[in-house]
Amino acid sequence: MSHEDTTLAPDARARALLAAVKSRHDLKRLGAWVDVYGDDALRLALVAVAAKGGVELPPDEALTWPGKKLLRRAAAREVEAQVRTTPIRIDEAFTCVSCHKEVPAHGRTARDHCPFCLRSQHVDDKVPGDRASKCGGKMDPYEIHVRGSGIDIRFRCTRCRAEKVNQAVLDGDVPDSWDALVALSAGTLG
Ligand SMILES: [Zn+2]
Ligand SMILES: [Zn+2]
Repeated sequence: MSHEDTTLAPDARARALLAAVKSRHDLKRLGAWVDVYGDDALRLALVAVAAKGGVELPPDEALTWPGKKLLRRAAAREVEAQVRTTPIRIDEAFTCVSCHKEVPAHGRTARDHCPFCLRSQHVDDKVPGDRASKCGGKMDPYEIHVRGSGIDIRFRCTRCRAEKVNQAVLDGDVPDSWDALVALSAGTLG
């Protein structure tokens, strides 16, 4: 493993170490390795690499943290996104990026698209609700698919072309507009 290669610069070893953290199990195993072999140079390199990825850690504390904590904090974004496989339910009010109407929280389930115009925003990366995408583009619905338990809406980002699937919201105080769903299925959604 290249993080163990002491002929490499601390920077390169820190990057290799963070890249190797792909699960909670890795976090534990590699954290224990840092406890034993992680010298100050490697620990500070981890702080520097994390800072480049937008994660600010206090350097003096990072020198004394348990290896597992240091790795978890340094790899915060990647680890959360990689380890989670189930959607993170976020139900919050928002202003639609497309029609600019105020969309109330649903109350029971996550709402990730506008019930009026069916547009969404590209805020999630690997897992629904992770809010890890920096894109922020408007996502247009392009297809609906009726399943036994509900209706899936397929979206494509107008900025980066990423795709996602959300369930139509058919209950609650402000369900998805039935007219908009019908128009989408007919290919006439304005
Ligand atoms: Zn809207
Ligand atoms: Zn996008």
